[in-house]
Amino acid sequence: MAQVLLPDTQNPNPYAIAQRQFDIAADRLCLDDRLRQVLRVTKRELTVHFPVKMDDGSVEIFTGYRVQHNLGRGPAKGGVRYHPEVSLDEVRALAMWMTWKCAVLRLPFGGAKGGVVCDPKRMSRRELEGLTRRFTSEISIIIGPDSDIPAPDVNTDAQTMAWMMDTYSMHQGYSIPSVVTGKPINIGGSEGRADATGRGVMYVVQEMAREMGLALEGATVAVQGFGNVGSVAARLLHSECGCRIIAVSDHTGGVYNPHGIDPTEAYHYSRANGSLRGLPDSEPITNEELLTLQCDVLVPAALGNQITEANASRVRARIVAEGANGPTTPEADEILAENGVVVIPDILANAGGVTVSYFEWVQDKQAFFWTEEEINAKLRLLMRQSFQEVLERSRAEDVSMRTGAYLLAVSRVAEATQLRGLYP
Ligand code: NAD
Repeated sequence: MAQVLLPDTQNPNPYAIAQRQFDIAADRLCLDDRLRQVLRVTKRELTVHFPVKMDDGSVEIFTGYRVQHNLGRGPAKGGVRYHPEVSLDEVRALAMWMTWKCAVLRLPFGGAKGGVVCDPKRMSRRELEGLTRRFTSEISIIIGPDSDIPAPDVNTDAQTMAWMMDTYSMHQGYSIPSVVTGKPINIGGSEGRADATGRGVMYVVQEMAREMGLALEGATVAVQGFGNVGSVAARLLHSECGCRIIAVSDHTGGVYNPHGIDPTEAYHYSRANGSLRGLPDSEPITNEELLTLQCDVLVPAALGNQITEANASRVRARIVAEGANGPTTPEADEILAENGVVVIPDILANAGGVTVSYFEWVQDKQAFFWTEEEINAKLRLLMRQSFQEVLERSRAEDVSMRTGAYLLAVSRVAEATQLRGLYP
């Protein structure tokens, strides 16, 4: 079979991890062998190498990817990541996780992901615009409002989406807002989208805390990653649930205060200073130390492969709510389960972003927009319903929440694939 990767425990390959997670569910579902072969691999992969004019007049060649994993349940949906370590296997894994995430939430989408190998922190705004526009142009042969709809991910934001939407629209000759989600509100974005992923994390933490009889008022929380997902999750867990945020971190390291950090002040500080380093009334800790702090809730909201077999036995949180995609390796999953640490898996915990992206796409298509209250209420309903479905399935089969979520997702995608049949 093509694209089979052996797991390397020293340097875990995200695609191999995604396939192992799928295999666990496929085995349990006794999935037909042909279906397994279809769902285990990505459907379509585009690699592009493209030139961008830099500010000093030189021309640099960048490499980017857009991968679609499955289109059985609808158009492909998934973010675009700018990072020096983007790789085809990472994008493949992220695309596959998007398929399952959309299926867990019953959104009428398949899964996709994109990425460009670049270091956006060392590029000017003009260079980033040039890179975004040319990348969009290169992948315009497979994206579109009814085929594949990008959104923001690591190091991309509403401005990136505005440039993507404009570039695609220029090709067509008229505006097509629904080609991307996560846009600024003024050009067809949705109320509530900027906070949606962090808000979704808060909703599933609330549900899990209720199930466990854990009072969130005063509960201690550590958040790794202080970007779109982490900073919002920290702010909302603090302001709406009364949690005590004892540590937050970014790519430069973490800050710790057992009496609590005000996440809004930390956000303004990091915006003004470029990082959290030196936040007043806090002591520095490493990202590694943050992950093993004694706390009620740990939210990994940075990159993948953060909780591995090397540190999982030292994780002392009661709940791990995966804001990031793929932060926990399968080996770590087993160790956490043995130690009674409950993991709310990424394909459920961080699904708030794609859910409000779905709302944005619907609003763009109908050219009629909802209020933030309506958006948040719809998001809450879908997150809660999906949480309960995942919990029930995992309890019924005596498996982890991750496997429970996979069982739901894989069976939904498998059913759609079977119903549609084989073409030609
Ligand atoms: P972002 O670029 O806004 O923020 C990333 C944060 O992680 C930054 O604070 C950065 O400094 C920090 N970081 C980077 N490398 C780190 C490291 N090695 N250690 C600690 N911190 C590090 O990105 P984001 O949109 O918040 O995405 C974060 C994670 O959430 C990713 O895994 C992404 O795939 C996932 N996710 C994002 C969304 C979304 O809507 N943006 C939705 C679902 C999942």
